[in-house]
Amino acid sequence: MIFLNFAKKLRLEYLIEILIPLSIVAVIYSSSFYNYLLFHGISEAFAILTMVGIFMVAWNGKRFMTNKYFLFLGISFLFVSFIDSSHTLAYKGMGVFPGYDSNLATQLWIGARYLQAISLLVAPLFIKRKLNVFATIIVYFIITSLILASTFYWRNFPTAYVEGVGLTDFKKISEYIISFISFLSILYIFKKRKAFNKNIFFLIILATVFTIFSELMFTLYVGVYSFFNLSGHLLKILAFYFFYKAIIETGLAQPFNLLFLDLKNKEKELTLEKDKFTQYVNLANVIFVVIDQEQKVILINKKGCEILGYREEEIIGKNWYENFIPERERKRVKVVFKKLITGNIAPVEHFENPILTKKGEERIISWHNTVIKDKKGKIISILSSGEDVTKKRQIEDELKESEERFKSIFIQSPIGIELFDKEGKMIAVNKASLKIFGIKKSSDVKGFDIFKDPNTSDFVKNSLKRGKGVRYQHIFDFEKVKQFKLHKTTKSGAITVDTIFTPFSKKGSSLGFLAQVREITKEKELEKRKDEFISIASHELKTPITSIKAFAQILERRFIDLSDDKSRYIINSLNEQTDKLTNLIRDLLDVGKIGEGKLKLKKEVFDLNLLIKKAIEDFSHTHESHKIELKGSLKKRIVGDEGRISQVLSNLLINAIKYSPNSKKIIVHVKSPNGKAVICVEDFGFGIRLDEQQKIFERFYRTEEIENHNLSGFGLGLYISKEIIKRHGGEMWVESREGVGSKFFLSLPYQNER
Ligand code: ADP
Repeated sequence: MIFLNFAKKLRLEYLIEILIPLSIVAVIYSSSFYNYLLFHGISEAFAILTMVGIFMVAWNGKRFMTNKYFLFLGISFLFVSFIDSSHTLAYKGMGVFPGYDSNLATQLWIGARYLQAISLLVAPLFIKRKLNVFATIIVYFIITSLILASTFYWRNFPTAYVEGVGLTDFKKISEYIISFISFLSILYIFKKRKAFNKNIFFLIILATVFTIFSELMFTLYVGVYSFFNLSGHLLKILAFYFFYKAIIETGLAQPFNLLFLDLKNKEKELTLEKDKFTQYVNLANVIFVVIDQEQKVILINKKGCEILGYREEEIIGKNWYENFIPERERKRVKVVFKKLITGNIAPVEHFENPILTKKGEERIISWHNTVIKDKKGKIISILSSGEDVTKKRQIEDELKESEERFKSIFIQSPIGIELFDKEGKMIAVNKASLKIFGIKKSSDVKGFDIFKDPNTSDFVKNSLKRGKGVRYQHIFDFEKVKQFKLHKTTKSGAITVDTIFTPFSKKGSSLGFLAQVREITKEKELEKRKDEFISIASHELKTPITSIKAFAQILERRFIDLSDDKSRYIINSLNEQTDKLTNLIRDLLDVGKIGEGKLKLKKEVFDLNLLIKKAIEDFSHTHESHKIELKGSLKKRIVGDEGRISQVLSNLLINAIKYSPNSKKIIVHVKSPNGKAVICVEDFGFGIRLDEQQKIFERFYRTEEIENHNLSGFGLGLYISKEIIKRHGGEMWVESREGVGSKFFLSLPYQNER
């Protein structure tokens, strides 16, 4: 229904649009029945009035129009109307100008039509160009005067009509030319159609088309009262009706479409720009706020409203500082505003302050300010874009706090802590550590490089370079420190230090390592005293046990022939236990010697290859439970205590057999990397837990696993072995995995044979 109604309404509107011109034409036409002269007068007057009307609309609206098409057309139509008026007055039968026949009116007609057609063709030139109104009027005045002078006064205007004969060729050809010019003007204006409102454009085209038809009619008539003359005038009325609609009606009824078309277009562009700006401002994830000189908010975007918790209208017009800044901050922030608005600080300056939300919460905003200036360069407002950094700052604060916590742990810790980067450079050191080494301030150890430190063993350096943690006890000699000028120390002599190096990494990539340092000089002294006691005790035991052994052997020999099994068993046990005791006392004596630094070595050149082969052979005979395999061989001979090295190797082989009861294989690897002989005894037994791997080289230390298995031993063998190797300038270490097996390594440097 609604659609039907709409269609009806639409059709009615069209009907009216068509009916009005038709009724005008009909009324004027009907006058021709009464008097043709009257008809001619009315129809010409209609066109003349329209032209004058167009001039008036254009003239009065000229200030508002940048498109000067209409003004040019108005001026030209005013002059055309003047000639047309003369034509009307000169028309046959009017009797205003005696002494002239119908030729005069026709000549004036042709003149007016030429002027009209050419003006329509030229007018689009002024759509965008400037129009010199005065010059235009002068030019039209001259042309009009010339036409009038040549028709009225000089009478040299080409003859257009010959009484009794009809139209001359000049007249007919002229009408064609005029039609052609009008056609060209249609093409031209079509090209420039964008400068016009759609309706106006369409009406101008329509008017020009009717003008062409009317001209063509005028090529055909014979008598000035004839049918073609009549229809030509009727078409002209229609043409001017459309000019009237295009310019006068639109100019009065919808001035925006005509006069203010430019303004309207500009406004449209501005609205579009504004929409785009608003969209951008609202899309952005930052606050946008514009504050004027009175500190009032004149613009705030969606994000700003969201964060503040107010609706836009609750914010706009309010004093920004009084309403949205916490009281304690107001003064400080206002100072910055004043500086900005008076141009006293660079507007791009970064600024951070809290804002107060509707809920009374505070959000920290990081602002960037821009000043907005008027045409004269005066600052009129401030545009601030702000990012909510509350969370960021919170995280930063938490981080800072936890950093402080760690820092204080680091500083206060009674254990010395040192941090190294992965290149071995010391990056931090705590008080406790400085105290151990007698260093006054951390800057005194600045640049200390552990990889270049002659006090640190190669074994430790290599472990650290491979990103492995290591525990390390060593004597720190201050005289050496002073000699190498490693750092400034207030201490002298030497101390014993226990250091645990732990690597630290982030997402798998090594960042460096941490060293926990403890001075154990006193503990070492205590140990030394214990060692002394062990040494004395074992010395005291050595003589009686030797005697016991001798007696046990005599007894064995005496009773060898006896068939008394029980006695033989007792004597055997006595012998075995005495052997064990002898070994223990030998080990204890060694421990004592080591403690006193009296472990003597008989250095001689010997063939390590041979020694290893012999040891493997001996063990293969005595321990048939395991098969011992040798891999590799050594290139050179070695300088050292053959007996002691053999003791070490035996110890490693005994352990490998003892601690791998469920496997049958032992491999001895030998290699010579970097001027060293490296021997590795590999078993596939219990293995050793990581945290115990360093401890097994300490005296009396036995792993938990072994203690649980009730296997005999005192935990001295590895301690003595390591000392023997150290005394040879070599190193001893272990690689092991619990439940998989162990690899005991020893390295001995090749020396020049003497
Ligand atoms: P002992 O073997 O007499 O106990 P050692 O000093 O030779 O003394 O060894 C110390 C400890 O190291 C052993 O008690 C044992 O816990 C551990 N150990 C040594 N060698 C091995 C090995 N091959 N496999 C597993 N554990 C071992």
